[in-house]
Amino acid sequence: MRLSVAPRLPADEPTLPPGNTAAEGALELLPIAAVVVSVTDDGLRFDLPNGTFRRLGLGSTADTSILARDLGARIVAFLAGQALRLQLPWAVGDAVEQRHFEVTLARVATANGPRCLVTLIDQTGEMRTEVNLRREMTTDSLTGLPNRAGFGDRLEQMIEAGTTDYAVLVVDLDRFGRVNSCLGSMAGDELLITVARRIKGALRACDGLGRIGGDEFGILLALDQDRSEADNVARRVRQVLATPFRLSEFEIRVSCSIGVAFGADAIGDAEDIIRHAQFAVRRSKETGQAEAYQTDALDRAREQFAMETALRRAIEAKQLRLHYQPICDLSTRRIVAFEALARWVDENGNDVPPAQFIPVAEESGLIVPLGRWAIDEALRTLAAWDARAGGDCGVAVAVNLSPIQLQRDGVAPLVTEALARHGLAGERLKLELTESALIADPDGNAEVLRALKATGATIAMDDFGTGYSNLAYLQKLPIDILKIDRSFVTGMLADRDKIAIVRAVLGLASALGMETVAEGIETQELGQTLAALGCTYGQGYAYARPLAADEAYALLAACTD
Ligand code: C2E
Ligand code: CA
Ligand code: CA
Repeated sequence: MRLSVAPRLPADEPTLPPGNTAAEGALELLPIAAVVVSVTDDGLRFDLPNGTFRRLGLGSTADTSILARDLGARIVAFLAGQALRLQLPWAVGDAVEQRHFEVTLARVATANGPRCLVTLIDQTGEMRTEVNLRREMTTDSLTGLPNRAGFGDRLEQMIEAGTTDYAVLVVDLDRFGRVNSCLGSMAGDELLITVARRIKGALRACDGLGRIGGDEFGILLALDQDRSEADNVARRVRQVLATPFRLSEFEIRVSCSIGVAFGADAIGDAEDIIRHAQFAVRRSKETGQAEAYQTDALDRAREQFAMETALRRAIEAKQLRLHYQPICDLSTRRIVAFEALARWVDENGNDVPPAQFIPVAEESGLIVPLGRWAIDEALRTLAAWDARAGGDCGVAVAVNLSPIQLQRDGVAPLVTEALARHGLAGERLKLELTESALIADPDGNAEVLRALKATGATIAMDDFGTGYSNLAYLQKLPIDILKIDRSFVTGMLADRDKIAIVRAVLGLASALGMETVAEGIETQELGQTLAALGCTYGQGYAYARPLAADEAYALLAACTD
């Protein structure tokens, strides 16, 4: 993918390159060079301005032999033919030091016969940026293991190869949050690194290991014989983690829960398989042993039944709530929008986190009524704020959409109706979609997105960096906003890799004309740094936690006074 637009040559009337003019001076700054080539009795003659090769990183002397060797025959053939222009890629150097050029041949008529104007545009930097960005985005900077995206890539390769003899194990550390809160995040980091090393030691070289979440590891296991191998590995992993960890003067015991999903049962993509293994982790937490994802419809129904029934009742009884977290302009700190986040307090008074009930809602299809309710409720609240403000209260509301809603629900008409019902313009609504949702069905989703945009709403790509985005693909979707995932923002100031990623994502967004929102900003310093890096908006505990509707309005009113 291009991050910048390459200057174009005039197509119809090629001219000779100017001498040492101002334009030539300006050209010096760009990774572009032009060479005039003529065919003489002695072979090809190259006329090139001084410094061309140095500028292109091809050495300091005006040695045209590389050009003659690699492009000579093409130039001769081009001049012998009829074409006016020809474009071709050209790579020079070995794998380590390779440079990439876009070469354009243009025919120039001169009094002394035809000449070929060869323009070389150096694209090495761009290509490296893309390769580096992809690598950084697929690697966990703490452990050096593949992150969720990198792990997913490997799994996707398995799926594409048509193999089903594999298992995915998700290892979830129990009560890891306590280590962080009691001993600090440095100790937490140290523990994660050691855990990663120990798990790696329990695996064969051919097995894959990734850190797919904060305290979650993914193992990709090739099965040589049967499913019992997954049990054996799970047992080995538990064993290696059972030895206490020494962190400074503390001795810490770590236990884990392990969920397994088998390739042979898999329907769907890498993300589905990982989710299934994660689903099995929940049961492992109850039973205390490794659990496989139940593909058997009956077992699964039983598995989900309790939470699902309670959730259905809660939706019907309108017991779910939305909380609202401000999204601020990082330079002025003005609130520009609120993200609506679902909250559920179950019948026993327990706060069930969305990370738990949204997957159940998605598996059971309850996400469709839940999602409809969320759109309606968020817009109803926004209209109520407008009424209290005696006019447009000046903010938009952002609602999360599940991929399932995109597939199943006629979501665009629903949005149009809800906007009309509450008398709001489309611009007041932002819809947040996750990366993995969008790439699951590119063509179908592009259509749904266009329909959604036609309602006037803006589209944000949520959790950017955690999915498998093929970056080039971003350009094809009508996305207005990139939300940089919290995992890149947290601890960013102490982590050069993370800064590099955030910077690259910001550059990418600006090249594609998108706005950016950084998630999970927990300190003012982080907000200021992100603003300095060119990030437009931010969200996080440094500004406010998600608030009940009334509190959110009070905050807004206090800010606009
Ligand atoms: P998300 O869309 O990425 O939402 C942001 C999450 O980050 C929220 O978690 C929010 O409370 C949390 N957060 C915000 N600022 C900070 C911070 O500074 N530090 C930390 N550590 N966390 C911060 P929450 O509310 O638990 O939501 C979790 C996920 O559940 C959401 O992630 C979203 O994917 C999903 N979700 C929530 N409500 C809905 C909904 O109505 N529909 C759908 N489809 N998904 C929802
Ligand atoms: Ca979101
Ligand atoms: Ca997010």
